[in-house]
Amino acid sequence: MLGSMSGYDTIVLGAGAAGLMCALTAGARGRRVLVLERSNKPGKKILMSGGGRCNFTNRHCAPDRFLSANPHFSKSALSRYTQWDFIELVERHRIEYFEKETVNGLSGQLFCRQSSKQIVALLLAERCSTVALPELPAAFQLAIRAVAITFVPSAASTSTIALPA
Ligand SMILES: Cc1cc2nc3c(=O)[nH]c(=O)nc-3n(C[C@H](O)[C@H](O)[C@H](O)COP(=O)(O)OP(=O)(O)OC[C@H]3O[C@@H](n4cnc5c(N)ncnc54)[C@H](O)[C@@H]3O)c2cc1C
Repeated sequence: MLGSMSGYDTIVLGAGAAGLMCALTAGARGRRVLVLERSNKPGKKILMSGGGRCNFTNRHCAPDRFLSANPHFSKSALSRYTQWDFIELVERHRIEYFEKETVNGLSGQLFCRQSSKQIVALLLAERCSTVALPELPAAFQLAIRAVAITFVPSAASTSTIALPA
């Protein structure tokens, strides 16, 4: 198994929304990306998001809609990647979506018409390999150029607990 996992430029820990988006971005820059996931499936939270249809963005997303101790962070982040960039990606992958209606009219919230599985598939399709850690030994080595680092997967955490164990 480890023998076949060679030649990556970027290794991402955790195949959640953040890790897969990171992998997608590195892949778009021409990097060969490996995502290591400790559970048996990538994107578990994405799969259950939006009641199984993933509310993947909001048309009205803007820096002043975020509460933060540092309001400049959202300005900086959204100046580099907007909801329109993600909508373009969704459309490029031919994923049908709809805007949720409320009593006050259209909400701006965009959901997959079929399934949030399509968003996970989109993220995985963008030039990365994903390996579920249960397939790997309890500890393994990554050779990074001339340096070898031993990883024990359970020693790192990449997000908060918002899922039943
Ligand atoms: C029921 C529900 C519905 C939701 N609906 C929506 C919605 O409609 N729209 C929306 O925008 N958001 C929604 N959210 C929130 C959204 O799903 C999360 O904010 C988002 O998925 C978090 O992504 P993340 O990558 O930060 O974390 P996670 O999804 O938690 O990803 C972290 C990943 O890292 C892995 N990991 C942890 N430690 C290690 C390790 N040591 N080695 C390897 N892997 C590791 C975990 O197994 C996990 O897969 C919803 C959340 C829930 C629970």
